[in-house]
Amino acid sequence: MPPSGTHTHAEDTDATLRQALKAAQSEVEALRSELDETNRGVLALYAELEAQADELRQATELKSRFLAYMSHEFRTPIGSIRSISRLLIDRVDGPLTAEQEKQVRFIQSTSAEFDDMVNDLLDLAKVESGRVTIFPDWFKLVDLFSALRGMFKPVLTSPDVVLVFEEPHDVPPIFNDDRKLSQILRNFISNALKFTTHGEVRVSARGNADGTVTFSVADTGIGIDPAFHHAIFEDFSQVDSPIQKRLRGTGLGLSLSKRLAELLGGSVAITSALGVGSTFSVTLPARLATGDGPEPAEAT
Ligand code: ADP
Repeated sequence: MPPSGTHTHAEDTDATLRQALKAAQSEVEALRSELDETNRGVLALYAELEAQADELRQATELKSRFLAYMSHEFRTPIGSIRSISRLLIDRVDGPLTAEQEKQVRFIQSTSAEFDDMVNDLLDLAKVESGRVTIFPDWFKLVDLFSALRGMFKPVLTSPDVVLVFEEPHDVPPIFNDDRKLSQILRNFISNALKFTTHGEVRVSARGNADGTVTFSVADTGIGIDPAFHHAIFEDFSQVDSPIQKRLRGTGLGLSLSKRLAELLGGSVAITSALGVGSTFSVTLPARLATGDGPEPAEAT
Protein backbone atom coordinates (compact mmCIF):
# COMPACT_ATOMS: atom_id res chain seq x y z
CA MET A 1 0.00 0.00 0.00
CA PRO A 2 1.47 3.41 -0.89
CA PRO A 3 2.26 5.80 1.94
CA SER A 4 -0.44 8.33 2.69
CA GLY A 5 0.03 11.73 0.96
CA THR A 6 1.30 10.15 -2.18
CA HIS A 7 -0.91 9.47 -5.24
CA THR A 8 -1.36 6.25 -7.02
CA HIS A 9 -0.89 6.15 -10.77
CA ALA A 10 -4.63 5.48 -11.20
CA GLU A 11 -5.55 8.56 -9.16
CA ASP A 12 -3.22 10.71 -11.29
CA THR A 13 -4.78 9.48 -14.50
CA ASP A 14 -8.23 10.08 -13.09
CA ALA A 15 -7.40 13.69 -12.19
CA THR A 16 -5.89 14.35 -15.62
CA LEU A 17 -8.98 12.90 -17.30
CA ARG A 18 -11.30 15.01 -15.15
CA GLN A 19 -9.28 18.08 -16.01
CA ALA A 20 -9.38 17.29 -19.71
CA LEU A 21 -13.13 16.71 -19.47
CA LYS A 22 -13.62 20.04 -17.73
CA ALA A 23 -11.52 21.80 -20.36
CA ALA A 24 -13.49 20.11 -23.13
CA GLN A 25 -16.77 21.03 -21.44
CA SER A 26 -15.86 24.67 -21.15
CA GLU A 27 -14.68 24.64 -24.75
CA VAL A 28 -18.04 23.20 -25.82
CA GLU A 29 -19.76 25.86 -23.73
CA ALA A 30 -17.73 28.60 -25.39
CA LEU A 31 -18.41 27.17 -28.82
CA ARG A 32 -22.12 26.93 -28.08
CA SER A 33 -22.37 30.55 -27.03
CA GLU A 34 -20.32 31.57 -30.07
CA LEU A 35 -22.72 29.59 -32.24
CA ASP A 36 -25.71 31.23 -30.57
CA GLU A 37 -24.22 34.60 -31.29
CA THR A 38 -23.52 33.67 -34.90
CA ASN A 39 -27.08 32.41 -35.25
CA ARG A 40 -28.46 35.66 -33.96
CA GLY A 41 -26.17 37.52 -36.37
CA VAL A 42 -27.30 35.38 -39.30
CA LEU A 43 -30.95 35.96 -38.42
CA ALA A 44 -30.40 39.71 -38.24
CA LEU A 45 -28.53 39.69 -41.55
CA TYR A 46 -31.27 37.60 -43.11
CA ALA A 47 -33.92 40.09 -42.06
CA GLU A 48 -31.80 42.94 -43.40
CA LEU A 49 -31.32 41.10 -46.70
CA GLU A 50 -35.05 40.49 -46.98
CA ALA A 51 -35.69 44.20 -46.50
CA GLN A 52 -33.05 45.09 -49.07
CA ALA A 53 -34.42 42.55 -51.56
CA ASP A 54 -37.83 44.11 -51.11
CA GLU A 55 -36.45 47.59 -51.77
CA LEU A 56 -34.61 46.26 -54.81
CA ARG A 57 -37.78 44.67 -56.15
CA GLN A 58 -39.61 47.96 -55.79
CA ALA A 59 -36.75 49.87 -57.42
CA THR A 60 -36.64 47.39 -60.33
CA GLU A 61 -40.37 47.69 -60.75
CA LEU A 62 -40.10 51.50 -60.81
CA LYS A 63 -37.18 51.37 -63.23
CA SER A 64 -39.12 49.07 -65.59
CA ARG A 65 -42.16 51.30 -65.46
CA PHE A 66 -40.07 54.37 -66.12
CA LEU A 67 -38.23 52.69 -69.01
CA ALA A 68 -41.45 51.45 -70.57
CA TYR A 69 -43.10 54.85 -70.27
CA MET A 70 -40.09 56.79 -71.52
CA SER A 71 -39.40 54.48 -74.47
CA HIS A 72 -43.03 54.58 -75.46
CA GLU A 73 -43.12 58.36 -75.37
CA PHE A 74 -39.94 58.58 -77.47
CA ARG A 75 -41.38 56.55 -80.29
CA THR A 76 -43.67 59.20 -81.79
CA PRO A 77 -41.08 61.99 -82.09
CA ILE A 78 -38.48 59.56 -83.47
CA GLY A 79 -41.04 58.35 -85.99
CA SER A 80 -41.66 61.95 -87.11
CA ILE A 81 -37.94 62.69 -87.47
CA ARG A 82 -37.49 59.56 -89.54
CA SER A 83 -40.37 60.21 -91.87
CA ILE A 84 -39.53 63.90 -92.36
CA SER A 85 -35.92 63.08 -93.20
CA ARG A 86 -37.22 60.44 -95.65
CA LEU A 87 -39.35 63.14 -97.34
CA LEU A 88 -36.35 65.47 -97.56
CA ILE A 89 -34.10 62.76 -99.04
CA ASP A 90 -36.82 61.93 -101.57
CA ARG A 91 -36.90 65.65 -102.53
CA VAL A 92 -40.64 65.82 -102.05
CA ASP A 93 -40.38 69.51 -101.14
CA GLY A 94 -37.67 70.52 -103.59
CA PRO A 95 -33.99 69.90 -104.27
CA LEU A 96 -31.17 69.45 -101.76
CA THR A 97 -27.53 70.40 -102.14
CA ALA A 98 -24.96 67.62 -101.67
CA GLU A 99 -24.06 68.99 -98.24
CA GLN A 100 -27.72 69.18 -97.18
CA GLU A 101 -28.24 65.60 -98.31
CA LYS A 102 -25.22 64.51 -96.24
CA GLN A 103 -26.65 66.22 -93.18
CA VAL A 104 -30.12 64.79 -93.64
CA ARG A 105 -28.63 61.30 -94.07
CA PHE A 106 -26.81 61.84 -90.80
CA ILE A 107 -30.11 62.76 -89.09
CA GLN A 108 -31.61 59.65 -90.65
CA SER A 109 -28.94 57.25 -89.42
CA THR A 110 -28.80 58.81 -85.96
CA SER A 111 -32.54 58.59 -85.55
CA ALA A 112 -32.43 54.97 -86.73
CA GLU A 113 -29.89 54.22 -83.98
CA PHE A 114 -32.06 56.05 -81.49
CA ASP A 115 -35.02 53.99 -82.61
CA ASP A 116 -33.04 50.76 -82.05
CA MET A 117 -32.08 51.92 -78.58
CA VAL A 118 -35.65 52.77 -77.65
CA ASN A 119 -36.85 49.40 -78.93
CA ASP A 120 -34.16 47.60 -76.90
CA LEU A 121 -35.09 49.58 -73.79
CA LEU A 122 -38.75 48.81 -74.26
CA ASP A 123 -38.02 45.11 -74.73
CA LEU A 124 -35.81 45.10 -71.65
CA ALA A 125 -38.47 46.82 -69.57
CA LYS A 126 -41.04 44.28 -70.77
CA VAL A 127 -38.79 41.35 -69.89
CA GLU A 128 -37.99 42.81 -66.46
CA SER A 129 -41.59 43.39 -65.56
CA GLY A 130 -42.54 39.90 -66.70
CA ARG A 131 -44.75 41.20 -69.49
CA VAL A 132 -43.17 39.15 -72.23
CA THR A 133 -45.25 36.21 -73.31
CA ILE A 134 -43.56 33.14 -74.69
CA PHE A 135 -45.30 31.46 -77.62
CA PRO A 136 -43.66 28.07 -78.02
CA ASP A 137 -44.48 26.03 -81.08
CA TRP A 138 -42.87 23.39 -83.26
CA PHE A 139 -40.57 24.88 -85.85
CA LYS A 140 -38.00 23.78 -88.36
CA LEU A 141 -34.48 25.00 -88.07
CA VAL A 142 -34.07 25.28 -91.85
CA ASP A 143 -36.96 27.79 -91.89
CA LEU A 144 -35.40 29.85 -89.10
CA PHE A 145 -32.00 29.86 -90.82
CA SER A 146 -33.42 30.80 -94.20
CA ALA A 147 -35.43 33.68 -92.67
CA LEU A 148 -32.25 34.95 -91.01
CA ARG A 149 -30.30 34.57 -94.25
CA GLY A 150 -32.92 36.71 -96.02
CA MET A 151 -32.85 39.38 -93.31
CA PHE A 152 -29.08 39.79 -93.44
CA LYS A 153 -28.65 39.64 -97.22
CA PRO A 154 -29.18 43.40 -97.70
CA VAL A 155 -26.60 44.33 -95.05
CA LEU A 156 -23.84 42.07 -96.36
CA THR A 157 -22.01 44.72 -98.32
CA SER A 158 -18.37 43.75 -97.78
CA PRO A 159 -16.94 41.16 -100.20
CA ASP A 160 -14.39 40.21 -97.52
CA VAL A 161 -16.92 38.79 -95.07
CA VAL A 162 -19.23 35.87 -95.71
CA LEU A 163 -22.22 34.87 -93.63
CA VAL A 164 -22.49 31.08 -93.53
CA PHE A 165 -25.43 29.09 -92.22
CA GLU A 166 -24.30 25.53 -91.57
CA GLU A 167 -26.59 22.66 -92.48
CA PRO A 168 -27.94 21.56 -89.07
CA HIS A 169 -26.93 18.03 -88.06
CA ASP A 170 -28.45 15.88 -85.31
CA VAL A 171 -30.83 18.63 -84.26
CA PRO A 172 -34.14 17.25 -82.99
CA PRO A 173 -37.45 18.96 -83.87
CA ILE A 174 -37.72 22.01 -81.65
CA PHE A 175 -40.66 23.17 -79.56
CA ASN A 176 -39.78 26.65 -78.37
CA ASP A 177 -40.40 30.30 -79.25
CA ASP A 178 -38.72 30.72 -82.65
CA ARG A 179 -39.31 34.50 -82.83
CA LYS A 180 -37.50 35.12 -79.57
CA LEU A 181 -34.71 32.76 -80.58
CA SER A 182 -34.48 34.65 -83.87
CA GLN A 183 -34.19 37.93 -81.94
CA ILE A 184 -31.26 36.53 -79.93
CA LEU A 185 -29.51 35.22 -83.03
CA ARG A 186 -30.09 38.51 -84.88
CA ASN A 187 -28.30 40.32 -82.05
CA PHE A 188 -25.38 37.90 -82.17
CA ILE A 189 -25.14 38.05 -85.98
CA SER A 190 -25.34 41.83 -86.28
CA ASN A 191 -22.66 42.25 -83.59
CA ALA A 192 -20.48 39.67 -85.33
CA LEU A 193 -20.83 41.46 -88.68
CA LYS A 194 -20.11 44.80 -87.04
CA PHE A 195 -16.79 43.63 -85.61
CA THR A 196 -15.57 41.43 -88.47
CA THR A 197 -13.79 42.98 -91.42
CA HIS A 198 -12.28 39.81 -92.90
CA GLY A 199 -13.30 36.18 -92.91
CA GLU A 200 -16.66 34.80 -91.92
CA VAL A 201 -19.56 34.77 -89.57
CA ARG A 202 -20.75 31.20 -89.14
CA VAL A 203 -24.15 30.27 -87.71
CA SER A 204 -24.61 26.68 -86.60
CA ALA A 205 -26.76 24.44 -84.41
CA ARG A 206 -26.09 21.16 -82.64
CA GLY A 207 -28.22 18.89 -80.52
CA ASN A 208 -26.85 17.96 -77.08
CA ALA A 209 -27.24 14.68 -75.20
CA ASP A 210 -29.27 16.37 -72.43
CA GLY A 211 -32.12 17.36 -74.76
CA THR A 212 -30.92 20.91 -75.37
CA VAL A 213 -29.85 22.57 -78.61
CA THR A 214 -26.92 24.99 -78.88
CA PHE A 215 -26.98 27.71 -81.53
CA SER A 216 -23.65 29.42 -82.16
CA VAL A 217 -22.55 32.50 -84.04
CA ALA A 218 -18.79 32.37 -84.58
CA ASP A 219 -16.87 35.23 -86.14
CA THR A 220 -13.29 35.87 -87.21
CA GLY A 221 -13.41 39.47 -85.99
CA ILE A 222 -11.48 41.55 -83.52
CA GLY A 223 -12.33 39.39 -80.49
CA ILE A 224 -12.98 40.46 -76.92
CA ASP A 225 -10.44 40.65 -74.12
CA PRO A 226 -11.22 37.97 -71.46
CA ALA A 227 -11.34 40.78 -68.87
CA PHE A 228 -14.69 41.84 -70.36
CA HIS A 229 -16.28 38.40 -70.69
CA HIS A 230 -17.89 38.33 -67.26
CA ALA A 231 -19.70 41.65 -67.75
CA ILE A 232 -20.54 41.48 -71.43
CA PHE A 233 -24.11 40.26 -70.85
CA GLU A 234 -24.87 43.03 -68.33
CA ASP A 235 -27.03 46.10 -69.15
CA PHE A 236 -25.16 48.90 -70.94
CA SER A 237 -21.95 46.88 -70.96
CA GLN A 238 -19.50 47.90 -73.66
CA VAL A 239 -15.95 46.90 -74.37
CA ASP A 240 -13.36 49.57 -73.81
CA SER A 241 -11.32 49.28 -77.02
CA PRO A 242 -10.93 51.99 -79.69
CA ILE A 243 -12.79 50.03 -82.40
CA GLN A 244 -15.60 48.96 -80.07
CA LYS A 245 -15.96 52.58 -78.93
CA ARG A 246 -16.17 53.79 -82.51
CA LEU A 247 -18.90 51.28 -83.34
CA ARG A 248 -20.75 51.95 -80.13
CA GLY A 249 -24.34 50.77 -79.99
CA THR A 250 -26.65 50.78 -77.02
CA GLY A 251 -24.92 48.12 -74.94
CA LEU A 252 -28.31 46.52 -74.40
CA GLY A 253 -28.44 43.87 -77.13
CA LEU A 254 -26.54 41.17 -75.27
CA SER A 255 -28.26 41.69 -71.93
CA LEU A 256 -31.60 41.48 -73.71
CA SER A 257 -30.42 38.27 -75.42
CA LYS A 258 -29.44 36.80 -72.06
CA ARG A 259 -32.81 37.56 -70.50
CA LEU A 260 -34.70 36.24 -73.51
CA ALA A 261 -32.64 33.04 -73.41
CA GLU A 262 -33.54 32.60 -69.73
CA LEU A 263 -37.22 33.08 -70.53
CA LEU A 264 -36.86 30.31 -73.10
CA GLY A 265 -35.43 28.01 -70.41
CA GLY A 266 -31.84 28.40 -71.53
CA SER A 267 -28.65 30.41 -71.23
CA VAL A 268 -26.08 32.30 -73.27
CA ALA A 269 -22.29 31.94 -73.38
CA ILE A 270 -19.22 33.51 -74.93
CA THR A 271 -15.79 32.30 -75.93
CA SER A 272 -13.49 34.83 -77.50
CA ALA A 273 -9.83 35.64 -78.00
CA LEU A 274 -8.44 39.03 -78.98
CA GLY A 275 -7.52 39.17 -82.64
CA VAL A 276 -8.90 35.68 -83.32
CA GLY A 277 -12.66 36.07 -83.07
CA SER A 278 -15.66 35.44 -80.86
CA THR A 279 -18.32 32.80 -80.54
CA PHE A 280 -21.61 33.72 -78.91
CA SER A 281 -23.98 30.86 -78.23
CA VAL A 282 -27.41 30.22 -76.83
CA THR A 283 -28.47 26.84 -75.45
CA LEU A 284 -32.18 26.08 -75.16
CA PRO A 285 -34.28 23.06 -74.31
CA ALA A 286 -35.44 21.43 -77.55
CA ARG A 287 -38.84 21.02 -75.89
CA LEU A 288 -39.80 23.91 -73.71
CA ALA A 289 -41.92 22.68 -70.80
CA THR A 290 -45.18 24.63 -70.96
CA GLY A 291 -46.61 23.51 -67.65
CA ASP A 292 -50.17 23.42 -68.95
CA GLY A 293 -50.88 20.12 -70.54
CA PRO A 294 -49.20 18.35 -73.42
CA GLU A 295 -47.68 20.38 -76.20
CA PRO A 296 -49.45 20.37 -79.56
CA ALA A 297 -48.66 17.61 -82.00
CA GLU A 298 -45.40 17.96 -83.83
CA ALA A 299 -45.63 19.61 -87.25
CA THR A 300 -44.79 17.39 -90.17
P1 ADP B 1 -24.18 47.12 -78.59
O1 ADP B 1 -25.52 47.69 -78.85
O2 ADP B 1 -23.20 48.13 -78.06
O3 ADP B 1 -23.67 46.29 -79.70
P2 ADP B 1 -24.31 44.66 -77.13
O4 ADP B 1 -24.87 44.35 -75.77
O5 ADP B 1 -24.89 43.93 -78.29
O6 ADP B 1 -24.42 46.20 -77.32
O7 ADP B 1 -22.75 44.39 -77.10
C1 ADP B 1 -21.98 44.92 -76.05
C2 ADP B 1 -20.56 45.16 -76.51
O8 ADP B 1 -19.89 43.91 -76.69
C3 ADP B 1 -20.44 45.85 -77.85
O9 ADP B 1 -20.49 47.24 -77.73
C4 ADP B 1 -19.07 45.40 -78.32
O10 ADP B 1 -18.09 46.21 -77.74
C5 ADP B 1 -18.94 44.01 -77.72
N1 ADP B 1 -19.22 42.92 -78.70
C6 ADP B 1 -20.40 42.27 -78.85
N2 ADP B 1 -20.30 41.31 -79.82
C7 ADP B 1 -19.03 41.36 -80.29
C8 ADP B 1 -18.30 40.63 -81.28
N3 ADP B 1 -18.87 39.64 -81.99
N4 ADP B 1 -17.00 40.97 -81.47
C9 ADP B 1 -16.42 41.96 -80.75
N5 ADP B 1 -17.05 42.70 -79.80
C10 ADP B 1 -18.33 42.40 -79.56
